[in-house]
Amino acid sequence: MHKVAVIPGDGVGPEVTEATLHVLKNLSLDLEFTTFDLGFEYWKKSGKQLSDEDVAAIGKTDACLKGPTTTPLGSGTFRSVAVALRQKLDLYANVRPVKSRPSVKGLYSNIDLIIVRENTEGMYKGLEFRANDSALSVRVITRQGSNRIARFAFELARRQKRRKVTIVHKANVLKETCGLFRETCLSVAAQYPEVKVDELIIDAAALKLVMEPQKLDVILTTNLFGDILSDEASGLVGGLGLIPSANIGEHFALFEPVHGSAPQISGKGIANPSAMILSAAMMLRYLDMPEHALRLENAIDKVLEEGTALTFDLGGDAGTMDMADAIATQLSKL
Ligand code: NAD
Repeated sequence: MHKVAVIPGDGVGPEVTEATLHVLKNLSLDLEFTTFDLGFEYWKKSGKQLSDEDVAAIGKTDACLKGPTTTPLGSGTFRSVAVALRQKLDLYANVRPVKSRPSVKGLYSNIDLIIVRENTEGMYKGLEFRANDSALSVRVITRQGSNRIARFAFELARRQKRRKVTIVHKANVLKETCGLFRETCLSVAAQYPEVKVDELIIDAAALKLVMEPQKLDVILTTNLFGDILSDEASGLVGGLGLIPSANIGEHFALFEPVHGSAPQISGKGIANPSAMILSAAMMLRYLDMPEHALRLENAIDKVLEEGTALTFDLGGDAGTMDMADAIATQLSKL
């Protein structure tokens, strides 16, 4: 039996979480779910932020499935639950596969790339200060942090027989922080002669992603750059409703859709549940159930192919639970 921590989160989070749990129940797996009420809405009601006890309790489970959580804009006391969990549980590798799926109209139909984003340092370290009319942010890049994310990316590329790792940075201007990231990644690359390596400056990478995405395979980059590139990449293949992610550490992993709490559509029951269900498939693979993960992915692809139970972002008018029901029905046929 596997213990899974579930954080439904805010906005569309509880809706896509309900849909995902509904689909998972149809796999009849030995999973025990424990729900953690965390996020902006919970903070508004209770005044409670993510506590050390929450982190310890989540960390004692075998994996966490998380819906998106809201983080208000600008100066204030409420810190991003996602960023805090990544740092406190030391989930240093954020893996975001961006793949064309059957019958989905994206800008391209033959994309298969993976963004590997450093997840614990960089601009998201939380070292920000106001001083009179100035504001400062400390960007922390360490050799140890760069080394472990680079090693993770090259191991992934070798294991999955990927064509190439592209190191994305801005070492021409951010000479020390991106300079250290680049030099560390290149020295790790030298230990993987069977994996091709190249590098791109972030602005050129953003262009290449739109113009020639097929020439990219594994993208290895820092925290903020990886965050931006993954939303951009999702736009190539049909949008954020389809992109899952894994946050992986040495001893624990958390799985969540790349999208946020989508306040414009929350409460309407129309969010696409696929990103969260595909995140659950990544979790099953992590929990050593690759055949169930594949079944889940195949069931989603079948529903996309049939095109009769699609949410609005995919051109349909089905609700979140209609699409989840269709996926569950496909599962029973596979
Ligand atoms: P968003 O990802 O919520 O929305 C961006 C766009 O994608 C919107 O047009 C939205 O309607 C659409 N979209 C998102 N999910 C969708 C789905 N499942 N189906 C169909 N369309 C979908 O980004 P945002 O509006 O910038 O952020 C909203 C909130 O989410 C913010 O408070 C932000 O901090 C938070 N956020 C949280 C996480 C996380 O918890 N990991 C990640 C990103 C953003």
